[in-house]
Amino acid sequence: MALLDGSLVGKVALVTGASRGLGAAIAGRLAMEGAAVAVSARTLDPDPRYAGTLQDTVLAIEKIGGTAKAFQSDLSKSDQRQALVADVTRELGPIDILVNNAAVTFFYPLQDFPLKRLDLMLEVQVRAPFELTQLVLPGMYERGGGVILNISSRAAEHPGQPPYDPVFTKGFTAYGACKAALERLTTAIAAEGYEHGVRANTLAPLDNVATPGAGAHDLVSDFALEDPSVIAEAALALVEGELTGLNALSQTLVAELGRTPQPLPEGLVTT
Ligand code: NAP
Repeated sequence: MALLDGSLVGKVALVTGASRGLGAAIAGRLAMEGAAVAVSARTLDPDPRYAGTLQDTVLAIEKIGGTAKAFQSDLSKSDQRQALVADVTRELGPIDILVNNAAVTFFYPLQDFPLKRLDLMLEVQVRAPFELTQLVLPGMYERGGGVILNISSRAAEHPGQPPYDPVFTKGFTAYGACKAALERLTTAIAAEGYEHGVRANTLAPLDNVATPGAGAHDLVSDFALEDPSVIAEAALALVEGELTGLNALSQTLVAELGRTPQPLPEGLVTT
């Protein structure tokens, strides 16, 4: 059984934004391969305002015999980012795999974009992955290995020349800029980390996934959708393989590697 002899047995993974959505799916898939998974987000216990909690993710993983532990953390705050890495390391051991998945996103046209909201997006989507990576790298370098996986979006793609697809004119500017920064940060981590055995990639869904976040922003009705198991499989492939320096797309990567997405543990709040 993969849980006992899977590719990630003995590894510690930290997955941010794992109270729901893609983070919950990726946490579940890594746990299915035997990783001890630290799941992090702000929502620990049920809250009528939000779908999914860290407890839901932990329970779903424990039900299949996996190992998961919840770490409540607001990633917009540097002191909580530092405490998160320290707490996970103390309670589960040194972090071998960091999945920066958490995001808060707002969509407004550029001229209306509140700078306070831009600051929050930059904190959670760019500064948090930057600082969390800084915090785990010394240990990874010391041990001669580690994996960073940053969850991106096709919004990072450049709009190109006119006429423009409406997706680029409907408030995606700040989101695209954050994800483009994340992608460039990631390839830099791959380059800097290479001689230390550290790999880094980004992964974006090829089509949208009907997560609570995507639903709240109405990114579901007019878009092609993919199942969360696809990005979870692609995430596992990037974590356990040898690939580095890639900005990968879920369905494309899974097809190229000939992998079959596996059913995720029941009870995860992915959609
Ligand atoms: P989601 O359903 O909105 O989930 C977002 C997660 O981030 C939640 O677990 C949330 O937990 C956490 N989070 C938000 N603010 C946080 C903060 N300040 N501190 C800590 N955690 C925070 O989003 P999703 O659709 O699963 O998206 C996950 C990732 O995939 C994001 O990076 C997103 O940009 C990317 N993506 C998604 C799609 C899609 O189709 N769904 C497409 C392209 C890219 P709490 O609220 O409990 O803190």
